[in-house]
Amino acid sequence: MKLSELFASKKLSLSFEVFPPKTDTAFESVKTATEEIAKLRPSFMSVTYGAGGGTSQYTLEIAKNIKSRYGVPTLAHLTCVSSTKETVLAKIDEMKKAGIENVMALRGDLTPELEASDRSGWCYRHATQLIHDIKASGADFCIGGACYPEIHPESVDQREDIKYLKEKVDAGCSFLTTQMFFDNNLLYNFLYKIREAGILVPIIPGIMPITNANQVERAMKLSGSFMPQRFKSLVDKFGTNPDAMKQAGIAYATDQIIDLFANGITNVHVYSMNKPDVAEKIQQNLSDILG
Ligand code: FAD
Repeated sequence: MKLSELFASKKLSLSFEVFPPKTDTAFESVKTATEEIAKLRPSFMSVTYGAGGGTSQYTLEIAKNIKSRYGVPTLAHLTCVSSTKETVLAKIDEMKKAGIENVMALRGDLTPELEASDRSGWCYRHATQLIHDIKASGADFCIGGACYPEIHPESVDQREDIKYLKEKVDAGCSFLTTQMFFDNNLLYNFLYKIREAGILVPIIPGIMPITNANQVERAMKLSGSFMPQRFKSLVDKFGTNPDAMKQAGIAYATDQIIDLFANGITNVHVYSMNKPDVAEKIQQNLSDILG
């Protein structure tokens, strides 16, 4: 199923994100965790793509497995930074042959090693170039892209970020998934600005349930997200008690999702991080709302 069809249905739904193993030995445990999440029958599952290749073959394997065994639509991520055209075109071909229908087209993070390397020969500098290549390959994917309610860390300002986002959508994105955020007002503000700029595709908010205190620093560093005082108090109070922190983090994410649904969002994407218990709890909390 193409995700554009799902979003057009306007039915309230939750989707979950999983990531492939970083080592070959971890494959079986990751596969089991992703299957447990698939059994919850989310509207779709996205499978991230390890930056810089590595175990990236597992993205496709996990996406195929979820779709064929559980009938859950999948969204396979693909990054392009520092890749050659040949590698990217071969990957697109592989996805096509594997029956993948939805692709999240990303640039990928610039790791410190990549930042320090000679970038003069790079074929891809931005996700838009990848989207052009996917389109030119003739593959009939439903293509998604990333967007940043609190602006991408490399952007000078939001005006510039939205200008390039419009180019990305015009290149062929059917929807955009957001970076995590912890204050819904930032998303509502962003939506207003991008709609004004003529970006009209469905926006899928990405919600990260913070279930342990160690995750906080990492998540903030990665995303640059603003941490509201209400969230800080929760971490201060419960951060040293793992069970309490998990319960509070799930409740905070649930609350964010309910507010998003109440304000017109129809699909929320949960960064479930290979944690079936967290995904299940959030889904249970919303059972009557999701119907
Ligand atoms: P781009 O859209 O290329 O934007 C990157 C920066 O370049 C922005 O500042 C943008 O404004 C600017 N820009 C865009 N076009 C131009 C232009 N023509 N000229 C000048 N500047 C321009 N990373 C992974 O490695 N694997 C994953 O699976 C993965 N999944 C993700 C899923 C989501 C929903 C999100 C939000 C992020 C994900 N990431 C993933 C992280 C992502 O790769 C990084 O955030 C990366 O730094 C930017 O990727 P992008 O596709 O948004 O880049």
